[in-house]
Amino acid sequence: MKTGSYVDGKWYHPTGGSRLVKNTNPADTKDVIAEFPAATAKDVEKAIAGAKKAFESWSKTPAPSRGRVLARAAEIARRRKDEIARTMTREQGKVLKEARGEVDKGIACLEFNAGEGFRIQGKTLPCELKDVFTYTIRRPLGVVGLITPWNFPWAIPVWKVAPALVAGNTVVMKPAELTPATCALLVEVLEEAGLPPGCLQLVVGPGSEVGNAITANPDIKAVSFTGSNQIGYALYAQAAARGAKVTCELGGKNAVIVLPGADLDAVVPAVLNGAFGSTGQRCTATSRVLAHPDIMGQLTEAVVAGAKALKVGPGLDEASQMGPAVDKKQHAQDLMYVDVAKKEGARLLTGGGVPKGLDQGYFVEPTVFEGVRAEHRLFKEEVFGPVLALTPIKDLSEGIKLANAVEYGLTCSLYSRDVNDVMRFVEEVETGMVHVNEPTVGGEAQLPFGGLKATGIGGREMSTDGLEFFTETKTVFINYTGKAERSFVR
Ligand code: ADP
Repeated sequence: MKTGSYVDGKWYHPTGGSRLVKNTNPADTKDVIAEFPAATAKDVEKAIAGAKKAFESWSKTPAPSRGRVLARAAEIARRRKDEIARTMTREQGKVLKEARGEVDKGIACLEFNAGEGFRIQGKTLPCELKDVFTYTIRRPLGVVGLITPWNFPWAIPVWKVAPALVAGNTVVMKPAELTPATCALLVEVLEEAGLPPGCLQLVVGPGSEVGNAITANPDIKAVSFTGSNQIGYALYAQAAARGAKVTCELGGKNAVIVLPGADLDAVVPAVLNGAFGSTGQRCTATSRVLAHPDIMGQLTEAVVAGAKALKVGPGLDEASQMGPAVDKKQHAQDLMYVDVAKKEGARLLTGGGVPKGLDQGYFVEPTVFEGVRAEHRLFKEEVFGPVLALTPIKDLSEGIKLANAVEYGLTCSLYSRDVNDVMRFVEEVETGMVHVNEPTVGGEAQLPFGGLKATGIGGREMSTDGLEFFTETKTVFINYTGKAERSFVR
């Protein structure tokens, strides 16, 4: 396993950092996976200088050839899938099935962007003038900074790196301190695929120093960030102040609306998956269920039974269905919200504590509260853990109103077979992604991903939108009149 930073095609151990990034298994804190020496602002400077140099030739490499590097990376990742999934599970905690799914999603992002190498296109448009040919081309930005979180330690780095590279940029990437090993594997995969030195620089270190040094550097033309609102807003202000492009993918507080007549056989697994999949540590997690009283009773019974039946345990055990929280801080936050919800008057139906016999890691029980009201913190604030809030609604209008009554706007789901309800919901719900009769979670390489309101700054990720972020448009006027003057022909 590579345990350092990667700059100019070489793995090395930074020496100036004041501390090591200790990488432990959240399912068993005695299992220390590796120690990554922390990089410093100086390492970032060196990485940016190398990326700037590499940009000179990478930006001139034909886009289909750049795409082919990603295509080879997709094949290598497929071959190394088990290694990547196991590393991810061991350092992040998610169960193997989810880790394998995440590897596949990253592979799809590599494949999609490999194909984009053949399609990066401008537009040909008519000109007001006779004998002037006007069109646009898309150009890379230069060196871009990618700052990524721990919850999807493979897919999020891939979905930022792949479009950045295929568009012709070079990249300085900083993974979350908790999950550098999975990100190091992505670098290894791209290295093996033939990515030239300097095109992708990995600097592992604390956000306050390494992340900040990336954001502040005038040679970083764009920053793509996924993480908390607190850091994202500060980073946006800092980068925007020096004129850099920024995209931030931040928190969520996603609801499932359930109306009478909905098929409970479909709703219940979707709610369980949305709320407890990835231990609730997804920005698209289902954290609220807004249901009509006619269906709430049955739904509650089934969801509580499902939560109780979930097998919580180490992700590396194939029988486990839900892994631990990622670290001590997240574990404490999950339990803190249980406490807050109880104090505010919501009723705990199941969970709320540490599962028996699992105190060697950061495990939390799948937790369900009923009677959660719009003014409660559990209704409004992102827990990022397996804590679900149930709230009654009298009709669709109230469901949409309550779904929208939070600062975030990432995703929302409605279970209904009534086409009028569906169309109204799609129109009125204030989220960047809308699901009908399926869970709130999920995203695909070819579909724009992101949110409204406090969830998102800048454009969407993945899809061609995601690629556009990493390019700028050049408008070209070619005048073949052979005359000195431009004259309008209106
Ligand atoms: P999370 O809840 O995912 O830990 P954070 O916003 O704390 O969210 O972290 C997301 C990423 O931002 C991580 O890679 C982290 O190291 C980085 N980060 C933290 N502080 C800063 C900062 N001041 N500037 C830039 N990046 C930072």
